[in-house]
Amino acid sequence: MRKLFIAGNWKMNKGIKETEDFFNELFNLVADYGKVDIAIAPPFTSIPKAVEVCRTKNILIGAQNMYFEDSGAFTGEISPKFLKELNVDFVILGHSERRHIFNESNELISKKLKKALEEGLTPILCVGETLKEREDEKTEKVLKEQVDSAFNDISPDDAKKVIIAYEPVWAIGTGKTATPEIAKDAHFFIRKRIKELYNSIVADEIRILYGGSVKPGNAKSLLSVDEIDGALIGGASLKPQSFAEIIKIGMEV
Ligand code: PEP
Repeated sequence: MRKLFIAGNWKMNKGIKETEDFFNELFNLVADYGKVDIAIAPPFTSIPKAVEVCRTKNILIGAQNMYFEDSGAFTGEISPKFLKELNVDFVILGHSERRHIFNESNELISKKLKKALEEGLTPILCVGETLKEREDEKTEKVLKEQVDSAFNDISPDDAKKVIIAYEPVWAIGTGKTATPEIAKDAHFFIRKRIKELYNSIVADEIRILYGGSVKPGNAKSLLSVDEIDGALIGGASLKPQSFAEIIKIGMEV
């Protein structure tokens, strides 16, 4: 049984004070997360506050990005070593905004993934096709390229530690959600590819989240799908009320 993973990606939102306020309100709304893993990725500068307020609350705190070197002349980048100093649990890699706004390549993301695993940070690897790629019937080709490149040279034991987030680019921040059927097909394809690259043990254990305009109103239909092991949530993770509602739905499915 794969444990459901509900993660919020705050993107470039919430400074230190807003971070503290968010968690205080969230703790009033949900006291127990039961069988669900809860995670939040705040901006770098709000991570220490998030770690501090969540210390006794069983919420995982992560970063939204990192570089693959320990230190050096990489202006503006963040070392995984620095994230470890902050007691960060996980790191989002290859988010579509990193791929498309900041031109991150599969090759770069692969280096980051390897480094995160070396440092004991759980990578949340984002993959997903653009609208044009879907319309051109290239979804599976794109997903295969992204998965193959990221897992190149990763051992089966390490592969199991990776969390994959299937995030169709056309559904991120647009209000358009993939139907449960579309998400299920993509998740099935990704899991099948992991099985081909490794074996059925790795494929059965690896968690694949869905991301793309997940809201309280559509969370139940998505999270009820067997192939969907949780959600990576942008907009709806910014409000304690909507994030708490999704957590509660996750506890019930
Ligand atoms: C995301 O940022 O990963 C995301 C899925 O955003 P949204 O939920 O706002 O579409």
